[in-house]
Amino acid sequence: MDFLKSLENFTKDKVYENYCLKSNCGYVVGGNAKYYVEPTTVVSLRTIIELSTVNQVKYKVIGNGTNLLISDNGYDGIVICTRRIKGIKENNGKVVCSSGENLSSLINFCLENGYCGLEQLCGIPATVGGAVVMNASAYKKCISDYIESVDLLRNGKLLRLDKHDLCFGYRKSILQQLKLPILTVNFRFPKQRKKIESKELIKYYSVLRHDNQPKGKSCGSVFRNTNSYKAGYIIDQAGLKDLRVGKAKVSSKHANFIVTEDGATASDVYTLIKLIKTKIKEQFNVELIEEIEYVGEF
Ligand SMILES: Cc1cc2nc3c(=O)[nH]c(=O)nc-3n(C[C@H](O)[C@H](O)[C@H](O)COP(=O)(O)OP(=O)(O)OC[C@H]3O[C@@H](n4cnc5c(N)ncnc54)[C@H](O)[C@@H]3O)c2cc1C
Repeated sequence: MDFLKSLENFTKDKVYENYCLKSNCGYVVGGNAKYYVEPTTVVSLRTIIELSTVNQVKYKVIGNGTNLLISDNGYDGIVICTRRIKGIKENNGKVVCSSGENLSSLINFCLENGYCGLEQLCGIPATVGGAVVMNASAYKKCISDYIESVDLLRNGKLLRLDKHDLCFGYRKSILQQLKLPILTVNFRFPKQRKKIESKELIKYYSVLRHDNQPKGKSCGSVFRNTNSYKAGYIIDQAGLKDLRVGKAKVSSKHANFIVTEDGATASDVYTLIKLIKTKIKEQFNVELIEEIEYVGEF
């Protein structure tokens, strides 16, 4: 039986062939995936991964694609998008969250259920799975601050890794190397003192984000900060705001953001990234390191 037929037999979820990935990339660029599926359950996710492995079809599990630059040549395998795998519940003071939940839904769940902690992260357009892989952070708060453990899939079996096994750092976790699908994330949050305080914090950080970051299509910060420099600051100092390649340009509001216009290509974004790196190397002898991830061939 061929791969597509076996997928259709064993999962209820629709599998697409030659699927356009633009809406799975923050920059709204990119080519087609050979196959594409949005499983609605963990069981389906597991089946799809097993069948991909058996049929030697490479796979890439993604969330909302807000940290991915997807190649104009697309992805020669199956893209498995988790954003329809939903569910958040409370269990003995723990919050158990499916990887496909939006981070905003988790923050809202906490607000409504007497927990707090992630208010600083409001406005990050991530799924919880993507946020955990990247250890998403903002205003000195990281998602890993409240993680107890993560449930992954390894060789068809559940694997639970505790926080100390996950080696979290600045926009870093061991999950970036392991590349195992995350099923659920187990959090332990502090209790709210007053709901209004959490609400006010969310409002405060939303306004801050709104004032400092550009609107429009982007993947947030392109380059990592280090102890010796802030990428946005040195790009600004180099006079690169508004630098443009095709329909991609360095934001005039925040120099570590590249924003795209209608009709942009991944190649526009990629070329602009290389140009920024070259200019920063020439001017400051600094090697900028990408925070965004490339998917497919460049
Ligand atoms: C406007 C804007 C603002 C942003 N602000 C911030 C910010 O303040 N702080 C910050 O840290 N980031 C920020 N980002 C970047 C981005 O949102 C984060 O990196 C986020 O964590 C990515 O989540 P995602 O669901 O989109 O993951 P994706 O981009 O889809 O994937 C990211 C990585 O996670 C992996 N992955 C995703 N889901 C799973 C899963 N279930 N199992 C296994 N692997 C998985 C993917 O394979 C990939 O390697 C911003 C982006 C935008 C567009």
